[in-house]
Amino acid sequence: MPRPKKSTQKKTTTAATKKKAGKELKTLRGMKDILPADQKYWSFLRTKIDDIAGVYNFDRIDTPVLEETDLFVRSVGETSDIVQKELFSFVDQGKNKIALRPEFTASIMRAYINHGMGNVPQPVKLYTTGQLFRHERPQSGRLRQFNQINFEVLGEGNPVVEAQLIHIAHTYFKELGLEVVVNVNSLGSPECRPLYKEALVNYYKTAMSASLKDKYKKELKKNPLRLLDSKDKDLQELRDGAPQILDYLDDDSKTHFFTVLEYLDDLEIPYNLSPTLVRGLDYYTHTVFEFYMKKEVNGSQTALGGGGRYDLLAEELGSKVPVPAAGFGLGMERIIARLREGGLLEDEEKQIDVFVAQIGDQARRRAMLLFEELRSKGISVMENFAKSSLKSQLELANKVKAQIVLILGQKEVSEDTILIRDMESGVQEIVELKTIATELKKNWLKKKKK
Ligand code: AMP
Repeated sequence: MPRPKKSTQKKTTTAATKKKAGKELKTLRGMKDILPADQKYWSFLRTKIDDIAGVYNFDRIDTPVLEETDLFVRSVGETSDIVQKELFSFVDQGKNKIALRPEFTASIMRAYINHGMGNVPQPVKLYTTGQLFRHERPQSGRLRQFNQINFEVLGEGNPVVEAQLIHIAHTYFKELGLEVVVNVNSLGSPECRPLYKEALVNYYKTAMSASLKDKYKKELKKNPLRLLDSKDKDLQELRDGAPQILDYLDDDSKTHFFTVLEYLDDLEIPYNLSPTLVRGLDYYTHTVFEFYMKKEVNGSQTALGGGGRYDLLAEELGSKVPVPAAGFGLGMERIIARLREGGLLEDEEKQIDVFVAQIGDQARRRAMLLFEELRSKGISVMENFAKSSLKSQLELANKVKAQIVLILGQKEVSEDTILIRDMESGVQEIVELKTIATELKKNWLKKKKK
């Protein structure tokens, strides 16, 4: 192959480099970096959720981020917003139709069926946390990649399960320092739903203008329940006059729902009956619920989380036997936003015990060993070995609020000593290098913490 002329080669490279340098690459719309300064909120949420899961005997499960698209089409429902508009779905190199998970419940139920979890004592209690993906219109509180905490109880139809789940989420919010209320409703059994759907369709067909009827043709035909929780102002105006599902529940569904409410009363959990709460997904049966900040519940704010019972999902996914189940998902970004608004965790700074400073190459080498020694003895240590100037090292020590700074210079290395300085009192002392860890624990760090 003839080699390109030298001049041409140079021109192309320069143009390519220019083009590359010109465009600053950014995160995709609706996707965010979680920066180091925000990590304290995330570890706070995760630690607390691991504690709660442990106390209530939930085992962790992690499912893949990518699944067959069909899993979500069959579970969440073809007419849901999630499947209609929000699924990140594509065909991969092997011509498989796959999707980034938009929710956890379907994946967890798939795992339950795949791994024969129906054969162990029921219920199976599982929890997880992780990223979900929905191609939503980005706006406040709505991201395209976001994180959820998810709890599921599989293999049990008793209404106590919904009450326990609501109780667990409520306890979690309380421990985070957030006061929430729960909105609850019942969608009843699949048997009583058709009658209600029919009543809804009749109501909306009479109440809607011709243009609205046209706009919501699909919902009127396939899933009129969705009209109830629409964000469309025109529909919201019609909502108050709509028939209420509680009037259409059969006796068993009524008993189921009232039992849940009685348990909530016993547990002293504040709740509102919310007859228009239907949640957007096809798989819910019986109890559905959503959590709101107490002070926002009547406002236009979005929910912090929600869930419900989904007794029919397992069979939709191919299970030969019914698997009654219920669960909830809480949005981590929204919880963190509320913690921030309340000023919670703001003063939680990283606490460093000891900063190791060094002057000169020999001291740096010795300081690196010292750092490891202190770290292995459980002392929190920090360094900036790349800097030579003591001033810039001390600046960093101040910034991270180190209690103690150890200074190792040429002289100290040759005499096997080290200088200890208490940053708050300014007291300093030279001690033997080999006794430093004991000295710190005995006389310096302890003294400061008292
Ligand atoms: P859902 O699975 O739709 O019931 O959502 C449960 C919770 O997840 C919501 O109450 C939100 O807190 C959170 N959530 C849902 N969608 C988003 C999103 N697009 N961005 C951020 N959080 C979300």
